[in-house]
Amino acid sequence: MNIKNRIEQIKASLPAHVELIAVSKTQPVERIREAMEAGQLAFGENKVQEMLPKQEVLPQAQWHMIGHLQTNKVKYIVPFIHLIHSVDSMKLLAEINKRAARINRVVPCLLQVHIAQEETKFGFSPDELRNILNGTEIHALQHVQIRGLMGMATFTPDQDQIRKEFKSLRKLFDMLKESSLPKQVSMNILSMGMSHDYRIAIEEGSTMIRIGTAIFGERTA
Ligand SMILES: *Cc1c(COP(=O)(O)O)cnc(C)c1O
Repeated sequence: MNIKNRIEQIKASLPAHVELIAVSKTQPVERIREAMEAGQLAFGENKVQEMLPKQEVLPQAQWHMIGHLQTNKVKYIVPFIHLIHSVDSMKLLAEINKRAARINRVVPCLLQVHIAQEETKFGFSPDELRNILNGTEIHALQHVQIRGLMGMATFTPDQDQIRKEFKSLRKLFDMLKESSLPKQVSMNILSMGMSHDYRIAIEEGSTMIRIGTAIFGERTA
């Protein structure tokens, strides 16, 4: 099956409130073009240096930053980035705000939450997240719009474990949504689910899935 068919098949299976982000990391521009021919506009990359040349060739696509972002790379993506999923520190958020202010942009962001058992995954703990949203520091950030949360489940064949982690993120999302939030924060996007676990993620309330392998095939790079 080709890229176009895979996208059409995945899209046909999604509830209307779930948006598909095609994760194009390691994929050459020709394959991204193929996906665009299937009507796919949103693409996720996890490295700034890989995203930049692709964005230059395909500025009409919507570019999503899904990987750990270093503060010294923020300035390169702020002019065009559609959504940064991987905000994992206040320092990073402040830098995004600073760079966005310089070009008079408001940059949409998600806060990444650590829900997996693995130590390696980036993100805030639920407690850190609550502290940030209740803190005063965030009020000064006029050039970021926090639109929701992102999380990654543990990489495990244990479906119950994955479901439990997604469930906990959804619960946090719902709780925050119902609490009083600073004006630059809203809880509309819940980015969770990858190729191997997106069906569970959707059952647990995901509104945005990030799919690479199930569209483009196994990555060789
Ligand atoms: C690579 C990646 C994905 C997509 O993974 P697949 O298993 O190929 O679907 C999703 N989210 C993040 C943060 C990634 O780095």
